[in-house]
Amino acid sequence: MAEKLYEELKSPSRILLGPGPSNIYPRVQQAMLQPVVGYLDPYILGILEDTASMLRAVFGTSNQLTLAISGTGTAGMDASFCNFVEPGDVVVVGVNGLFGDRMADAARRCGAEVVPVEAEWGRIIEPAAIEATLKKHKKVKLLSLVHAETSTGVLQPLEEASYLARQHDALFLVDAVTSLGGQKMAIDERGIDICYSCSQKCLGCLSGLSPFTAGERALAALQKRSRKVQSFYLDLSLISSYWTGSHAYHHTASCIMIYALHEALAVLMDEGLDKSFERHQRHGDALKAGLESMGLKLHAQEGHRLSMLTSVQVPEGIDDVRIRNRLLHEFGIEIGGGLGPLKSRIWRIGLMGGSSTAENVLLLLSALEKSLSREGFQTEPGAGVAAALKSLSGAEVRP
Ligand SMILES: *Cc1c(COP(=O)(O)O)cnc(C)c1O
Repeated sequence: MAEKLYEELKSPSRILLGPGPSNIYPRVQQAMLQPVVGYLDPYILGILEDTASMLRAVFGTSNQLTLAISGTGTAGMDASFCNFVEPGDVVVVGVNGLFGDRMADAARRCGAEVVPVEAEWGRIIEPAAIEATLKKHKKVKLLSLVHAETSTGVLQPLEEASYLARQHDALFLVDAVTSLGGQKMAIDERGIDICYSCSQKCLGCLSGLSPFTAGERALAALQKRSRKVQSFYLDLSLISSYWTGSHAYHHTASCIMIYALHEALAVLMDEGLDKSFERHQRHGDALKAGLESMGLKLHAQEGHRLSMLTSVQVPEGIDDVRIRNRLLHEFGIEIGGGLGPLKSRIWRIGLMGGSSTAENVLLLLSALEKSLSREGFQTEPGAGVAAALKSLSGAEVRP
């Protein structure tokens, strides 16, 4: 029998407009071609320091404990619960989408007594509901919320929740997996005690690292633990002793991943944080204007829509998967489908990091128009693109 030959791999070049990963910046791709060095090489130690300081700027914090955990966003989520929650602790979790649900699951696995505050998938968790829940339970250890719920397209307000957490002496944990880099985080100003993110969404890097920060209130809770953190790999004291201070060996972090994140953050610093936030907002607004002009309905609660991820309803009689397949195979564009109760009911269009460009907005709208019309849903030709162009030029403010 002939031996199977494995060809040199050649991955297709896609336009990634789903809920993550997003397209990476060319400088990130370049950075990944650099030689590998040892985990204690003076070069990588300098890169760690610069990466941490850029992460502080993006998070909007002066927290000493600011680093990137090896693993994806979910590793940051697991680390948050397994370090700060002990069996029997009461944890209040906002659940209005898949990731809130995942947070509740992660907390339960640490032995927490989870009290969910629920809302419909597509609506925010109302501060009044959080307040009522905190009042009902005597000692709440931690309140956790998802800032940008990628499964629904909702942006959760954080200010009142932060105030309420402090008032009830609970730690405030925020999932910023989708928002970091595309939206102001202001960790210190908002009084967020613990926050994690990922590398592959608005930072324009590939997946593999989870940016993480924790403040003094959180560190005090860590010191008061009655037992060791159950996960050796995600023990923050051990991870932070590699990143800072003694640089003690804990695990062999991937230097190429760290180069990639470093470079993505450097691109972001070059652009300017405010410029990046504005860019995500401008393109998100143009996309929404285009979709609505095509007669499509946005799913997320008005006034609380994400800029970097737009959820839009699949029109009656249209097959979700057929449209997504057309976009992928005919136009090389990836968008996301709905999850859980929203399966087949919405599309999720991401404009994150390197994918958030005006060209991508226009391309997606034309490709979607074409695909919808082939499936029998007629829209006024060119209406989506025209509305997006108008929004991009700021023309809607003219009389
Ligand atoms: C993507 C995402 C996660 C999970 O991140 P992974 O990198 O896929 O592990 C968690 N929370 C939110 C809000 C996300 O969008």
